[in-house]
Amino acid sequence: MSSPNWPAVTAEVVRHLQALLRLDTTNPPGNETLAAEYLAGVLRAEGLDPLVLESAPGRGNLVVRLAGSGQAPPLLLFSHTDVVPAEASAWAHPPFAGEVHDGCVWGRGAADMKDTVAEQLMVMLLLKRQGVALKRDVIFAATADEEIGGPAGYGVAWLARHHADLLRAEFALSEVGGYNMDFAGRPVYLIQVAEKGTCWLKARVRGRPGHGSMPHQDNAVVHLARGLRRLAVEGLPYHLTNPAAGFLEAASRAAGASPMGRLLHSLKSPVEAERAFQVELKDNDLQPFLYALLHNTATPTGLAAGYKTNVIPAVAEATLDGRILPGFTTDSFLAELRGLLGAQFEFEVALEAPPLQITHDTPLFKLMADSLRAHDPQAAAVLPYMMSAATDAKYLAPLGVPTYGFAPMKLPPGMKLMEMFHAHDERAPIEGLGWGLQVLYDVVTRYCS
Ligand SMILES: [Zn+2]
Repeated sequence: MSSPNWPAVTAEVVRHLQALLRLDTTNPPGNETLAAEYLAGVLRAEGLDPLVLESAPGRGNLVVRLAGSGQAPPLLLFSHTDVVPAEASAWAHPPFAGEVHDGCVWGRGAADMKDTVAEQLMVMLLLKRQGVALKRDVIFAATADEEIGGPAGYGVAWLARHHADLLRAEFALSEVGGYNMDFAGRPVYLIQVAEKGTCWLKARVRGRPGHGSMPHQDNAVVHLARGLRRLAVEGLPYHLTNPAAGFLEAASRAAGASPMGRLLHSLKSPVEAERAFQVELKDNDLQPFLYALLHNTATPTGLAAGYKTNVIPAVAEATLDGRILPGFTTDSFLAELRGLLGAQFEFEVALEAPPLQITHDTPLFKLMADSLRAHDPQAAAVLPYMMSAATDAKYLAPLGVPTYGFAPMKLPPGMKLMEMFHAHDERAPIEGLGWGLQVLYDVVTRYCS
């Protein structure tokens, strides 16, 4: 069997990406059925048998399967078709037109994550066209409602509740990983093996009400301000989890004897890490990423107190976006937060999701790493990493389906994938997309045939 004609296949994946970007699946309201029907049409035309499953009117999920011999359990590729809103006037090119400029396809979802939808679609088409003899089923799911979702969402959470059998697999591949980051002047590739849990909450503190003309020491607004200052200045304690240790180990090896290599190595010690975050890393681009890797975090994102200028209110509260490391629970996280803020704070949890981690000691991880290195000989390393935000992987984990973040993409120098997520001027480099498709096809064919 001859290998695919990659320039032609790249042009084809670009066309699919453009078509997907032109379908407005802004969530809310979503309207992901537009994307699901588009994908179903393409798949049907090539003899596959896709299902479009609506969890609510307009909230379509697409699932399609290429059957293997059953010698090995299935592999699931999944990606979400909804996007966050775009403020068109702030973009250099319109966000729902799928235009090509400067070697990139522009549009809301070009990085998060219609690029991957198009890549995964193309892998299915190629497996079918090339007549690849599969020893395991390959499943592709293009799903709704990742951006708002939650446990009662219309996408993966709904599929997992109502159609679990369609998704059961040994492993799943989805966002966020398989892309390059500049690291001490050389590209390293990241594969997601863990993600932090979520705990959104209100932190509330009470005091003594009174007249604003007579300040006293038991003012709820002042108590809250002091607490938030402690959160900003001291932060929550350092913790070295297994995924973080694995990352720092591999990253410091990759950076070698450079100052960055020594710095990364030093982050494995709590004392040295504290100094590094205050001094060497203070203004470094990597600081937020590395800090989140080593700490539970609680970021103040809202404030509420008071109703009249001359009244000291009885209550003040802050909205906190809490993110929890593997190994922690909501309770142990809240205990840590109470330790910092003080016993007078009350917490009201609004949303929680547990952290996830899977081992990188698997043949599939090795295959992904080998394939990235083979396709980019410049790569300094492939690093297992923990993402600070959450994905739909958390709804598959309870079904026994662990997910690696692997949506390969090669970014040109200076382009940062995560900075384009939810931002203006989101775009996908065409060369990098074609490159990523080859990597993904390579991994899937080698793992499944
Ligand atoms: Zn996403």
